[in-house]
Amino acid sequence: MLRNIALQASKAARFVPRSTGVLHSARAFSASTAVLNEHASLPSLHTFTEEEQMLRDAVRKFATDVVGPKVREMDENEMMDPSVISGLFEQGLMGIETSADHNGAESSFTSAIIAIEELARIDPSVSVLCDVHNTLVNTVIRKYGTKEQQDKWLPQLAESKLGSFCLSESASGSDAFALQTRARKEGDSWILNGSKMWITNSWEAEVFLIFANVDPSKGYKGITCFVATKDMGIQIAKKEQKLGIRASSTCTLNFDDLKIPAENVIGGEGKGYKMAIEILNEGRIGIAAQMLGLAQGAFDKAVPYTYQREQFGQPIGTFQGMAFQIAQAAIDLETARLLTYNAARLKEEGKAFTREAAMAKYHASVVAQRVSGQAIEWAGGVGFTRETGIEKFWRDSKIVSRHFAVPYCVGLLMIEYRAPSTKAHLIFNCRLSRSSSRRSILKAILRFIVTHFIVLKNEFALGGDNAKTNASLD
Ligand SMILES: Cc1cc2nc3c(=O)[nH]c(=O)nc-3n(C[C@H](O)[C@H](O)[C@H](O)COP(=O)(O)OP(=O)(O)OC[C@H]3O[C@@H](n4cnc5c(N)ncnc54)[C@H](O)[C@@H]3O)c2cc1C
Repeated sequence: MLRNIALQASKAARFVPRSTGVLHSARAFSASTAVLNEHASLPSLHTFTEEEQMLRDAVRKFATDVVGPKVREMDENEMMDPSVISGLFEQGLMGIETSADHNGAESSFTSAIIAIEELARIDPSVSVLCDVHNTLVNTVIRKYGTKEQQDKWLPQLAESKLGSFCLSESASGSDAFALQTRARKEGDSWILNGSKMWITNSWEAEVFLIFANVDPSKGYKGITCFVATKDMGIQIAKKEQKLGIRASSTCTLNFDDLKIPAENVIGGEGKGYKMAIEILNEGRIGIAAQMLGLAQGAFDKAVPYTYQREQFGQPIGTFQGMAFQIAQAAIDLETARLLTYNAARLKEEGKAFTREAAMAKYHASVVAQRVSGQAIEWAGGVGFTRETGIEKFWRDSKIVSRHFAVPYCVGLLMIEYRAPSTKAHLIFNCRLSRSSSRRSILKAILRFIVTHFIVLKNEFALGGDNAKTNASLD
C-alpha cells in the first residue's frame, strides 16, 4: 500500500548524493545549478528530478486506484468522500512544500504542480481541494507566518486539518479588494464581521485564512489576513449547488463578531493585499495544472473509445476527420503542459513568473474547455451520458472562468503585449455603452484607475520582475 508517497519520494531523492543526484542535475532546479559550462545542453521541460518522477507515479496510482472508483458517486452526491481527504493526508500530499520539520514532504513547487495535475486527470474536484490547501493556504503560512505561526499551523495542515482561503465576497469577486468584511481590535483580539462567498473546501475545512479590512479609510492598504479555526465560531451559511467540480465544497461563510486572537494576524496589519496578489500569482500555475490534468483526463477517456468503436467498417478514430482533431488536441495538451511547467520552473528559479503563470493559466483553461468538449463529441451519444465520466470533465472545465482572475483579463495581457493602445480601448468598450454620458465616462475612467490600476499592473507585470512590481504596492 502506498503510504506517505510524497514523504517517501522526497526522502529517497534527498539520499542521492548532491553532486551526482538527479535532484542536483535536473533542469535549472535552483539558481545555483544554473552554472553550466559552455557546451552543456539544457534539459527539456519534460526532465524531472527523481523525486518528482516518483511522486508523479505514486500520485497517479493513488488517483487511479483510490479516487477513481469514487468519482461518479462523489459527483452525484455533491460531496467529497472523507476517505479521499484522509487519504491525501496519509499520502503526504497536503504538505508538499512544507518542511520536514513541520511534518511536510519538503518537496519542490513543481512537485505540487505535478500532484495537482495527476489528481485532476482522475477528478478535478479532488485536485482543487489539494491545490487550494497547498498552493494558497500552506504557502501563505510558509511565506508570511512567523516562526511561532509556522510551528503551530503547518504541522496540523500537513497532517490532518484542511484549509480554506477566504477572499471573495458577494459584492467583491473580480474586484476582490473591494471586500467589506471588517476587523476591529478589542484588547488582545480582533473582532470580525462580514461574510465570504464561494469558499472552496469550507464545508470540510478546519483552518481558514480570512481577509478583512482593519482600516477602510486606507482602502486596500487596510486589508489584513487572519488565521482562524472553525471552532472560533465561523458559520457555514450555504453550500452552493454547482455545474462542475461538484464534490468540491463551495460555501458562504458568515462572521458575526468572530473573535480571533491578536497573534493570528499573518504577515502584519495591512499586508493582506500584497500577500494575496503574490499568492494568487503562484496560484495561477496551480490552476493551469488542474486544467492540464483535466484536459488530459478527458483525452485519455475518449481517444481509446474512438479506436474501439467501429462505424462504416472501421474504428472511428481512423477516419482522417477524427484523426486531425485528435492530433490537434494532443498538440494543445503539449503546449499547455510546456507553459505550465515553464512557469513552475521559473518560480522555483526565483525568476519573474507572473506573466508566464497568467499565460499558462489562460492557455490551459482554453485547452481544457476545448478538449473536454471535443471528447464528448468523439464519443458520440455515449459521451453525452454520465456513465463514462467524459461529460464531467467538460462541466468541471467551466470552473476556470471564475477562478481568481478572469481569463478575459489574462487575455488582455496578450493584447497589451502586442499593442498597448488596444488594451484601454477594449476595457472601456466593455465597461461603457455607446450611449454613456461624458460624466459617466469620466466616472468610469476614474473608478477603473483607482480600483484596477495596481491589480492590472500586477496581473500584467510586463517587463518588470515580480518582486519589484509587488514592492510598489506597499
Ligand atoms: C467553484 C468556485 C470556487 C471558488 N473558490 C474560491 C475560494 O476558495 N476563495 C475565494 O476567495 N474565492 C473563490 N471563488 C470566487 C472566485 O474567485 C470569483 O468567483 C471570481 O473572482 C469572479 O468573481 P464573481 O464570481 O463575483 O464574478 P464577477 O466579478 O461578478 O464577474 C462576472 C463577469 O464579469 C466579468 N468582468 C469582471 N470584471 C471585468 C472587467 N474589469 N472588465 C470586463 N469584464 C469583467 C467577468 O469576467 C465575469 O465574466 C470561487 C468561485 C467559484 C465559482
